[in-house]
Formats: sequence, C-alpha cells, structure tokens
Amino acid sequence: MFYNSAESLIQGFMGNVIAKNPGEREFHQAVSEVVGSLADYLLTHPHLLERKILERMVEPERIVIFRVPWVDDKGNIQVNRGFRVQMNSAIGPYKGGIRFHESVNLSIMKFLAFEQTFKNALTTLPMGGAKGGSDFSPRGKSDDEVMKFCQSFLTELQRHIGKDTDVPAGDIGVGGREIGYLFGQYKRLQNEFGGVLTGKGLNWGGSPLRPEATGYGLCYFASEMLATRGESFEGKTVTISGAGNVAQFAAEKAFQLGAKVVTLSDSNGFIHDPDGLDEEKIEYVKELKNIYRGRIREYAQRYPTAKYYPNARPWGIKCDIALPCATQNEINKAEAETLVANGCFCVAEGANMPSEPDAIAVFQKAGILYSPGKASNAGGVATSGLEMTQNSIRLKWTPEEVDSYLHRIMSDIHSACLLHGREEDGSINYVKGANLAGFIKVADAMLAQGLV
Ligand code: NDP
Repeated sequence: MFYNSAESLIQGFMGNVIAKNPGEREFHQAVSEVVGSLADYLLTHPHLLERKILERMVEPERIVIFRVPWVDDKGNIQVNRGFRVQMNSAIGPYKGGIRFHESVNLSIMKFLAFEQTFKNALTTLPMGGAKGGSDFSPRGKSDDEVMKFCQSFLTELQRHIGKDTDVPAGDIGVGGREIGYLFGQYKRLQNEFGGVLTGKGLNWGGSPLRPEATGYGLCYFASEMLATRGESFEGKTVTISGAGNVAQFAAEKAFQLGAKVVTLSDSNGFIHDPDGLDEEKIEYVKELKNIYRGRIREYAQRYPTAKYYPNARPWGIKCDIALPCATQNEINKAEAETLVANGCFCVAEGANMPSEPDAIAVFQKAGILYSPGKASNAGGVATSGLEMTQNSIRLKWTPEEVDSYLHRIMSDIHSACLLHGREEDGSINYVKGANLAGFIKVADAMLAQGLV
C-alpha cells in the first residue's frame, strides 16, 4: 500500500489491525504506540513497507489456547483457559513471562507478547518475544490448589516450549512458588533438567539477582534518565504502585540510592507512609506479600504513621519521581496531570504499559522525563537471559557479576534510546527511541531470514 504521509500510514495500518483483531483494545493500544513512533522511519525506508515487515510483526507466529482443568480443595472441578502467544523468533528463541490473573485474555496476551519482542531486542541479548498465562488467579488459593493448577497448565504447555524453543518466566501472579511447580512438572514429563523456565530457585538453576532484576534495573535506568538533567535519586520523594515483585525491589533500590519511597499499592488500595520505607519496612512488605500472601492495607496497621486509602491509586501524592509497577493502564490523563502539577518530573515504568495514551501525551507535553516499560523494565528479562546463559554453561555467577551485567545492559538500553529518540529541540523521546531501536534490530533479522 502507498502512503504519502505519516498520518495516512498510521491510520491505514491501524485500520487494518483493528479490523483484523476486533475488540482487542490493549493490543490495538500497544501497536498504535509503536506505529506512531515508526511512521516517519518507514516512509524513508520503503523496502520495509514493501516487505511488509510491520504487518508480519503484528501477526503472532503462533498462538496456543488450551483448556486447564484442575480439582480444588473441596473436590470441585475447575476449568481455566491457558494461552501462549509466540510472537516473534527472528532474533532468538521465544522468551516472555507467564501471567496468572483473572483479567487475562487474548488481547492482553498479544499486547504483552508484542511489547516483549521490542523489549527483548533492546536488551542486546538473543531472545525472541512471547507471553503466556491464564485467567486463573493464585490470590486466595491454597498452595495445593496453585500446585494442581500449575501442573495441569504445564502438562499442555510443555508441548510448545523448550530451552531452545521458548523459555517462559514469571509475571503478575507467577513468582518463585509458581515457577517451582511449573519446573517440577516439566522435569517430570520430559525427564530433563534444563533451562526451560527462568526465575528458578538459586539451588536449582536460578540466577542470583533474578528476583531483584526488574526493580533494580528500573532504578538503574531511571538514574540514567535523571543524570541527563544532572539529577539523581538522592533526596527525592518517590511514589510506587504495586507491592509485588517489581515494586518491592524498585522500592529497595530507590531507598539504597537515597530516595524516600512513600507509597505502595495493590488492587484494593494504596498506603502512604510520609516517613518513607526503610530496609525494615521493605523486608516486612516482602514477607507480607511473598510468604503470608497478605494485603497492603496491613502495612498501615503495622506502621500507624502510614495511612491506607482504599479503592484508590497513589498518583495524587506529591512526588518527584513516579514508578508505576502494578499493571497496564493504571495512570489516566487526570492522574498524569495531577502528577505533573504536583512537581513530578520523572516517570519510569516498571509495569508494562501502565500509562494510558492520553497520560503519555501529558508527560511529553510537559517535557518531563518519561520512559516506557519496554525500555525501563527490561532488566527482568535481561537477567532471565543471563540465567539461560548460566544454565547453558552450567555455571553460577556471583550476585556482583550479574549486577554488573544488569547495570551495563540498562545503560546500553538508555544509550539506544538516546541514539534513536533525540528530538530536534534536544529533548529525549524515550518512546520513539525504544521503539525504533527494537524495531531496527528485529526488522534486520527478519529481512535476512527471508519470508518466514
Ligand atoms: P506481582 O504479581 O508480583 O505483583 C503485581 C502487583 O500489582 C500486586 O501488588 C497486585 O496487587 C498489583 N496489581 C495487579 N493487577 C492489578 C490491577 N488490575 N489493579 C491494581 N493493582 C494490580 O507482579 P510483578 O511485580 O511481577 O509485575 C508487575 C508489573 O511489572 C506487570 O505489569 C508486569 O507485566 C511487569 N513486569 C514484570 C516483570 C517481572 O520480572 N516480574 C518484568 C517486566 C515487567 P494484587 O495483589 O491486589 O493483585
């Protein structure tokens, strides 16, 4: 198709994507953000349009949808739906997390797999893009129920994954416990102890620092962003959403870097602790969420200087830096305006697509530092890539070695964003930078490998 302007390319392309994938709102949103960043580049590189690279990138190489039957503690049969979207394998085996949450549907799986393709390309490691999951939520389930579900889920999924084919990891609702049950069942069915899943326990093939990696990497990336303005975390007030894996370690690293973290949240509400979270309080949150599987409101009972706000998000609290680390579309336009009005000058995404398109427009118009998750949260999958390497060479690196790789990778991703995202007025468009850098790498590989 011939396009005579970026506008007509975006409209024409998105029209086709929406018609072909009806009702997949999150997928449309993720594709639209990428196409908006690439349109000018594509117009000046017409061979990419002729070879239909972008049309191929939005079409998953394979989607598997399957039944997951299991028996709950009362003896009742439960039936959930499982997914694996294998989006793109141009630069390496499929790689991407598994999400267990009641909201999971095909649109969410496809948006995450699409984002993952770009993110993995940015890490500089050889990993293609995928995502999987189920509409099963571990919240409120017993360990036995979670194990039975994981075993049933993996019994089907094992046909489609493998250490050189597709290597899943954790995401929302899938932490160390779930990865353990999934890995155990894979080993039993395949009679193979290998690197088929990442996020494994330290004594059975896991990498040092994998649990910390997404949150730590987020703060390393945000530090690079802040440094472009001669700033740092030191002395800054930070709001964080979520209280899970990414949020916990983002809070820990921000604290270590001298910031005052004043909020955490879950899907029921948020806590505001004006004194800030210190080491002891962060340890308490880890225990509360990871061992006792409690709710964040309990924080305010334990630390009475903190206040719990039910059914609310933390973006009304005054801060310098905001780190959304819970889920997609958790910052809307009004919340973005409030953040900016309250003096927030840096938003670095730990979650995938937490800011709605209107919110991103607010950040960009205000000229504050803003980075999309595919750049700033890539430390998790990058460290999963390092886990795969350690599994292949049958060695375990020290935490210091992994941390130094993680630091370097986040710094390289930041440099790639600068290279491709510098605007004429000197400002940095991290969305454009991340999308272009990821796209060029995957597109080159697709061109080289022919029409597959
Ligand atoms: P966890 O399951 O460990 O924690 C998720 C947190 O977000 C919980 O506090 C949860 O609260 C909250 N949350 C989940 N859904 C919603 C919702 N609909 N509304 C409000 N709060 C919600 O997940 P992770 O920390 O691993 O993942 C968080 C985000 O980071 C996700 O977007 C994920 O895709 C992204 N990410 C994760 C990586 C990783 O390595 N784990 C890597 C890169 C990105 P509740 O307990 O109430 O459900």
